[in-house]
Amino acid sequence: MPEAASMLSVEEGRARILQSLAPLPAQLLPIEQALYRVLATEVESREDLPPFDNSAMDGFALALHGHAAQAGDVFEVQGEQAAGQAPQGREAACEIMTGAALPAGLDSVVPVEQVEVLAHDGAGRPSSIRLQAAVPAGQHVRRAGEDLRRGAQVLAAGRRLGPQQLLVLAATGCAEVAVRPRPRVALFCTGRELRDAPGALEAGQIRNSNGPYLRAALAAAGAEVRAHATLPDEPEPLEAACRSALADGIELIISTGAVSMGRYDFVPETLARLGADTVFHKFRMRPGKPLLFARLPGGALYFGLPGNPASSAVGLRFFVEPALRALLGLAPELPLRLPLLEPARKKSGFALYQKARVELDAKGQAGVRLLPGQESFKVLPISRANAWALLPEQAETLAAGSLIDVYGLEHWGLQFSSENPT
Ligand code: AMP
Ligand code: MG
Repeated sequence: MPEAASMLSVEEGRARILQSLAPLPAQLLPIEQALYRVLATEVESREDLPPFDNSAMDGFALALHGHAAQAGDVFEVQGEQAAGQAPQGREAACEIMTGAALPAGLDSVVPVEQVEVLAHDGAGRPSSIRLQAAVPAGQHVRRAGEDLRRGAQVLAAGRRLGPQQLLVLAATGCAEVAVRPRPRVALFCTGRELRDAPGALEAGQIRNSNGPYLRAALAAAGAEVRAHATLPDEPEPLEAACRSALADGIELIISTGAVSMGRYDFVPETLARLGADTVFHKFRMRPGKPLLFARLPGGALYFGLPGNPASSAVGLRFFVEPALRALLGLAPELPLRLPLLEPARKKSGFALYQKARVELDAKGQAGVRLLPGQESFKVLPISRANAWALLPEQAETLAAGSLIDVYGLEHWGLQFSSENPT
């Protein structure tokens, strides 16, 4: 059997990862600490919003009893109603400020710009006004519950709490929310060639770029990186680091490097020592074909990402992040379908994840361009991409205009802009 036939497709690989993954048990957090967390339960409003009928304008509150008033009508005015004051029942019209409760007995508001003040009282306040424009009954009144009724759903479970969601929670008096904990991750970069320290490289060394990249990308993806280390090319230090991470209760271990076929590719051996169940190792994908996925005793997940930066980026984005989504209680992502701006070619038999840019034409219509420099060791194109494009496993030639799957840089959604790529 040719090698490719025995390997899983990307869809099969992802399905095996997601199998039996359940959302983490919810935790309660005050909303001040809940920014960018994912709601575990729906939130219902405990209050009407607005909480009471109130004025949308600075002006005068009138009693129209369902009939429009006409320009020229004269009203006697008594007193005022300011924002924050408890409303009093009133016989006559009164001065009213924006946001002030509509007094009982009054039902419509005329803006101050649309009246002529005919007389003032002893304190210099308007005591009589004439309308300069017609006032429909109920004008400029914000009704209690018009935005949101008490008991109605404010936010659904699975919603990520951005500033806009905190706004509605604060507006409805919700002080605490049930959210998913951040999945806890340990990250281990392997390779004796890796240098973390600043300063000149010694012969044979390269900078550890995956470490800072993956720590940042994991935090951005909603995980908490509890431990990280750079380890030499031997199984014992990785085994010890994994054991201590497991003792800390982490849900995910991610390693980079040492999963290919080289002499120092010791991750499979380390997993055997840990008693792990290796679910797959390699599948029909580029870059990142030797990605390894295992379940550790106790249920933690192990992702062995290949060391090349683009391979580890693809492994994180398309295999680790779907697992994080499942732990956060989020549904699988749906790609955008966009037309290729230029023709593309590839060999059949493996899915190809490409660094890409979504570009807008003069009419604002989006298309996707594959970036030059797709070799998996190159890092500059990763910094210039604003999206990932997926060329399907069976495809060989794709004409310009073919629709392909496009994913944002982060699993939360697409955030494209038309800024200069450099
Ligand atoms: P490996 O998967 O260990 O065979 O590594 C594949 C390639 O990725 C080699 O050229 C490594 O030097 C490089 N590499 C491995 N780990 C890192 C890292 N943390 N940062 C940058 N490059 C790396
Ligand atoms: Mg290595």
